[in-house]
Amino acid sequence: MGETQAEKQRILLIEDHQDLQNLVERFLEKQGFEVISTREAERGIEIYESQKIDLILLDLMLPGQSGFEVIKKIKFNSTNDDLMPIIVITAKKEVENIVRGLDTGADDYLTKPFDLEELHARIRSVLRITEMNALLRQQSKSLEEANDRINKLNQALIEKNADLRKSLINLDNIFQISMELTSILDLKRLINSALLTFAGRFGFRKLIFFYQEDPAQYRLRVLNSKGFYQEQVEHLFIEKSDPLISRLGNKQKPVVLSEMSDANSKSSAYRELTDLDVEIISPIIYQQSVEGLICFGPGLIEDGFSKIDIDQIVTLSNMISIAVTNASLYQEVKQLSYTDGMTELHNFRYFQLRLREEIIRHRRTDSDLSLLILDVDYFKNYNDTLGHPAGDAVLRKLARILKQTVRENDIVARYGGEEFAIILPEVKTKGARILAERIRHNVEKAEFDNEKIQPNGNLTVSIGGASLPENAENYKDLISKADTALYMAKRNGRNQVQLFIPKMVQ
Ligand code: GH3
Ligand code: MG
Ligand code: MG
Repeated sequence: MGETQAEKQRILLIEDHQDLQNLVERFLEKQGFEVISTREAERGIEIYESQKIDLILLDLMLPGQSGFEVIKKIKFNSTNDDLMPIIVITAKKEVENIVRGLDTGADDYLTKPFDLEELHARIRSVLRITEMNALLRQQSKSLEEANDRINKLNQALIEKNADLRKSLINLDNIFQISMELTSILDLKRLINSALLTFAGRFGFRKLIFFYQEDPAQYRLRVLNSKGFYQEQVEHLFIEKSDPLISRLGNKQKPVVLSEMSDANSKSSAYRELTDLDVEIISPIIYQQSVEGLICFGPGLIEDGFSKIDIDQIVTLSNMISIAVTNASLYQEVKQLSYTDGMTELHNFRYFQLRLREEIIRHRRTDSDLSLLILDVDYFKNYNDTLGHPAGDAVLRKLARILKQTVRENDIVARYGGEEFAIILPEVKTKGARILAERIRHNVEKAEFDNEKIQPNGNLTVSIGGASLPENAENYKDLISKADTALYMAKRNGRNQVQLFIPKMVQ
């Protein structure tokens, strides 16, 4: 406060008339102003440019440069500001000058001779107006700045909003993808779907999926890949003891390969994957251990991946881990529930399922279908004489003979205790007879422990068969006809094949 009071307002007086100059100077100083006077226009401009001036009192009629030049220079040429208040002093009759002076940029005028009090009043008024102008300017500048800030905030908000929407869309995407993936219980189809998702939605050009299908194995092998030639990846495997795998096991999340270059020297997987342009690897974790690996090659986006992409890869990899675990558990359970533990053939449940499926296919495509049922001859005798375990060994050996004798498409199942069933898709009666005969022959020829104790000195089987559409119309019918044929084989002396003929039921 004291300081602003002490600071006097400074008036520059440019007046060539010495008496007037003295008079005005003394008067204004008395009024509390600081006055700097000069008689020359040029000197006045120099003072204006070098000192802080609050107001200029300017005589228009000056020797040398005219007062107009001074106004022009100050108001328009100066970079300082055009707020500098100027009051011009001129003779009463020079109306034209007054108008020109005001046009040029003067703020007010006084005509000679003037009353000093009037001069004081004009000065105060012009200073006040200038002060208010400055204030207005200041305020409008602040407003502009505030406006700027609001605009920037607004822009940031719009961007945030867009980001948010983007991640919402991404979340929704991820949710959709994970729903799709977790509902796939077939491991191979699941992995294919997952890789296609990564290629399609994230633009990866190269992808490899390593998996350890058999827990007894100590290496991960390629289960599926995209963007490679078959021969590039088919013999590829990664040892579970590779340093890269242990690193992934510790981290339990995706890593950028180039950031693990310290693993480089010890890891052959690191070198092989780098050679294949793999950039990111993501572990498939099951029970804390790395059971699989998704390898991501370069994406379509050249400038690398944004954070959100990596986050999505993390989320999706976790979901795929869960989905893969589910699928392999499902496969295991399915395997168990459809497999006969003793012979490792399909069990009766699986037989029922497949026979129904094949009958449906037969109806749809009009293809042939045959069924064989096989029963061990005098098996009770074998069991009773040599014991149950010996009997079991015979059943296991029979299972192997059956598997070795049938074609790949044929389905061999343990039908009951010592009975086996063989579904033969696309096989007519004639083909069924040939295959049945071959089985019978192979069993007869095969050596079984102590088989000489059997009534005919040999362990043999009887086989009955029936075919669609010749012998039966449906599932039950087909089984029943094959059973009838088997009964005929037994009745006719065993160790033989009988295919159903209508005469059998007459
Ligand atoms: P046939 O020539 O008429 O078929 O005479 P069979 O003695 O084979 O017939 P039967 O149906 O009277 O006897 C079947 C025997 O098969 C009874 C049982 O001891 C034996 N068996 C059934 N399931 C198993 C099994 O899982 N293991 C063993 N070791 N024997 C079994
Ligand atoms: Mg039997
Ligand atoms: Mg039997």
